[in-house]
Amino acid sequence: MVSILPNPHSVDQSQIRLEIRSLQPQLVEWRRHLHQRPELGFKEQLTAQFVAQKLQEWGIEHKTGVAQTGIVATIASNRPGPVLAIRADMDGLPIQEQNDVPYRSQHDGLMHACGHDGHTAIALGTAYYLSQHREDFAGTVKIIFQPAEEGPGGAKPMIEEGVLKNPDVDAIIGLHLWNNLPLGTVGVRSGALMAAVECFRCTILGKGGHGAMPHQTVDSIVVSAQIVNALQTIVARNVNPIESAVVTVGEFHAGTAHNVIANTARMSGTVRYFNPAMEGYLSKRIEQVIAGICQSQGASYELDYWHLYPPVINDAKIAELVRSVASDVVETPAGIVPECQTMGSEDMSFFLQAVPGCYFFLGSANPAKDLAYPHHHPRFDFDETALAMGAEIFVRCVEKFCQ
Ligand SMILES: [Zn+2]
Ligand SMILES: [Zn+2]
Repeated sequence: MVSILPNPHSVDQSQIRLEIRSLQPQLVEWRRHLHQRPELGFKEQLTAQFVAQKLQEWGIEHKTGVAQTGIVATIASNRPGPVLAIRADMDGLPIQEQNDVPYRSQHDGLMHACGHDGHTAIALGTAYYLSQHREDFAGTVKIIFQPAEEGPGGAKPMIEEGVLKNPDVDAIIGLHLWNNLPLGTVGVRSGALMAAVECFRCTILGKGGHGAMPHQTVDSIVVSAQIVNALQTIVARNVNPIESAVVTVGEFHAGTAHNVIANTARMSGTVRYFNPAMEGYLSKRIEQVIAGICQSQGASYELDYWHLYPPVINDAKIAELVRSVASDVVETPAGIVPECQTMGSEDMSFFLQAVPGCYFFLGSANPAKDLAYPHHHPRFDFDETALAMGAEIFVRCVEKFCQ
């Protein structure tokens, strides 16, 4: 796949930049169009229509209705070569936008508060550029427009419907616009980038009664309080301190009156870790802690546990490809940030389990323009200058990988 001869079709890198920068007004227009029309996971009908219409316009072969609202575009060159996939997620969030901008959400209670509108625009720009420059790469590029990243997850059903097959994908890349990093930087690293996410819901079944007569009851609040505290010892005392993990109880509901001992208490929580070898370990410890404390106090419990997304693990070679391309794009060594791990999660991980690849963060915060609110905040917005940078990184990765 890698030729030792210079690529006869290689183009002047600065020409790529000029051409992609000239797409910036369209990238902004598409992003704002999508920003005004956020849709929840597996309901991205307007978004998918918009994407399909553009692909149609540009004569790009594509398949719609993959995993309900997903789309796969295939851009073949006229030379045989590897197959590189590029993934963009398309869904919004159930958040009421509080930004006062002309392109604010027109869908009540829904918002693109994570930047997936930008991901879709960047992928469209990349598709357009590549379709106009099929002679500049070998092989095939598949662009995967994925639904439902925010939940329940569109990557897995897309893989099950065969998006990585026929032609078989050799590697995959994807990006997240990232307000935890300033504009002009790229967070990229080999190995674990984002954590696995699991969650649980637990009901503690005690025996209610009079607040003045505890001896006749099993106090579900006292039992649950011990459980919440003991769950914290899993990370502190069971996980190797060299590893990273989180056990958070984010919900706790119990009781109805000051003089009533609560019959039941409910809690829910989230669990994160990087090391794939820890799969199954934290869930087992959580149940042991709950069961042990319940048994010691005469309570019982109901526990539901979900293993949602595995950790995002980047392949060393593809991460190096992205790093080398990104350093050309940001043009400053300080612009590459390898210390960018987060306990946040992403279902890009399913693609990365199936084929080698690299997911990376494209810095998009600009505090000088008041564009630095965190992801999922009702005032989230990003510096749109990042859009052309994202498309340029994707295009250059294609031209470097697909030879
Ligand atoms: Zn998000
Ligand atoms: Zn996101």
